Amino acid sequence: MSVATQVFDMLYELSEKLYKMENEGKKVIRLDIGEPDWRPPLSARRALLNSLRDGRDKYASSAGEPELRRKIAELHGCDAGNIVVTPGSKWGIFTLLKLHLKPGDNAVIFSPHWPAYGLICNSLGANLRRVNLRSEDDWRIDFASLENAIDSKTKMIILNSPCNPTSHAWGESEERHVLELAEERGIPVLADDAYRDLCFRKRREKQIEENLLITNTFSKTFGMTGWRIGYIVVPTEVARKVVKLNQITVNNVPVFLQMAALAALEQKERFAGKIRRICRKRAEMAAGLLARRMHFTHPNAGFYLFPRLPEHVDVDRFMCKLLENGIAVAPGSAFGEYKWHVRISLCKKERVLKRALERIAELVECE
Ligand code: PMP
Repeated sequence: MSVATQVFDMLYELSEKLYKMENEGKKVIRLDIGEPDWRPPLSARRALLNSLRDGRDKYASSAGEPELRRKIAELHGCDAGNIVVTPGSKWGIFTLLKLHLKPGDNAVIFSPHWPAYGLICNSLGANLRRVNLRSEDDWRIDFASLENAIDSKTKMIILNSPCNPTSHAWGESEERHVLELAEERGIPVLADDAYRDLCFRKRREKQIEENLLITNTFSKTFGMTGWRIGYIVVPTEVARKVVKLNQITVNNVPVFLQMAALAALEQKERFAGKIRRICRKRAEMAAGLLARRMHFTHPNAGFYLFPRLPEHVDVDRFMCKLLENGIAVAPGSAFGEYKWHVRISLCKKERVLKRALERIAELVECE
């Protein structure tokens, strides 16, 4: 197992350990996990119960229910044939990587990045090539390094904007530049849009393109993490292949969940607007409380902060100290070569979050 895999695995191990501590009754403020604290829209919860009552709980299409696919297609300027409903976006990402990467191939990504991409590539015998960006450069894309990272084995470029863990969304023109470069090289771009609706300045819906494979989820914006539902927007021939994979594996996302997701989408404009405002307020509060103690690029989306701790701080020891104080954060090394960073999730009610962040600031001060 590569060192990178071990480090990325560590994040999932930490998470399991913390669930265990909580089950044993220990109180931990979990700022390590990207789990929204808001409830799914009421209309979604009602739709779920209604469709269960109506008996919509049987095997169903491996592409997804037509009414949900049509609604998603409307948003992305395409046909229902371009949409496949997936059990969470993790499954969408996994299937698209599986379809495009053979053993020995690679996918290129900007780092820091969500650990699952690397683990998925490894499980397929492929590699994840990282283009390391710097917080000192405000996570600006380094196009020369991107070009250098691409070789004849590169079969995918992954663009996660806004990015987990930085909560930084690149500008439309930077994203366009990546798409153009990929197109010139004949490499598809996987756009993981899990956090796109949470850009503090609302972005228009991404429209379908030939060279683009979009994945999205109901987990973040709608707080439906445990419901396991997401979707992909892809060219029809790719959609057909993913449907075939679904047929021999997960078969279908339960119909009652799909009906709930449809109800959520019907509320999207209003609901996402409310969540964006919550995220922005929390990010401003966190920035205000921590700015004097550590360096970070101010997030323009989502619900993470990815600060760099002062260099004299031993990050592992610091994280243990935080845990002793009942606070968990995620280690920066889980997201690439960022061992001086930690990822702080801001998904807590303001009162609890403020208390935890003040404590983090105090503990950094004591180091
Ligand atoms: N993409 C990114 C960047 C994420 O952070 C996550 C979850 N943390 C996912 C995809 C997967 O989310 P889900 O499977 O719940 O849709």
